[in-house]
Amino acid sequence: MTQSDCEQKRKAVEFALTATYNLANEVQHYIDEHSLKEDNPPDFLAIAQQLVPGEQQQMEHSLERSSLGQIAEIITTCVQCPLGKLRQHAVPGEGAADASLMVVGEGPGRDEDATGRPFVGRAGKYFDTWLSAIGISREYNVFITNIVKCRPPQNRNPYPEEAHACLPYLKRQIALVKPDAILCLGKVAANYLLETKAALHAMRTTIHRVSNIPVLVTYHPAAVLRNSDLRAPVWEDLKRLAAILNLPLDQGRS
Ligand code: SF4
Repeated sequence: MTQSDCEQKRKAVEFALTATYNLANEVQHYIDEHSLKEDNPPDFLAIAQQLVPGEQQQMEHSLERSSLGQIAEIITTCVQCPLGKLRQHAVPGEGAADASLMVVGEGPGRDEDATGRPFVGRAGKYFDTWLSAIGISREYNVFITNIVKCRPPQNRNPYPEEAHACLPYLKRQIALVKPDAILCLGKVAANYLLETKAALHAMRTTIHRVSNIPVLVTYHPAAVLRNSDLRAPVWEDLKRLAAILNLPLDQGRS
């Protein structure tokens, strides 16, 4: 073994000993803080997860003190998943910080990627007519965002690993805005937000909850533009949403 090999090995051993010492200290600290009784064995896996949080937990933890503006800044430079290298602009979301309604789509499309703003294409303009039908305006009482903040190529659905990498941002946005209701647009967004594989028609009929906030699911505006038969069920969903938010209704249809 050469001198340099020995030096490298010593460094590796030193690093391993330091890490073990630090971990042992953390475990000792945990044991001192929590009275672990022998007749009631603790959940060692849960303790290990607390002591060594996963990547997503670490990210959620690091976002805990971030404001909406700071989250938007972090997102614009984020490369937590491969979509970060493909985007023109990240689309953090926008709207009133104290919005009564939060709208969640699946991800930015071409127009959103080009502008950095959510729901600005044809489907977005159509969606604005849904909002105005229940007396909501982008100006003052809605916050619009997506499951993933960067555009998936060719507008494909976000992959699970992309959605999971990005969800801590949405969770923090929900915690900060504290909307009275969340409207999920389309099956993909709803499946990721509600952690289910249910079909859209099955999800529409239920009021779900995320962080104890009521969540309604309806069709994506782009799907309604392609199939006008969906307009009637969307109007039913919007009426349910208006009732939750105590909003007076425009009797015209979306
Ligand atoms: S999609 Fe989300 S997690 Fe992926 S790079 Fe963009 S901001 Fe980061």
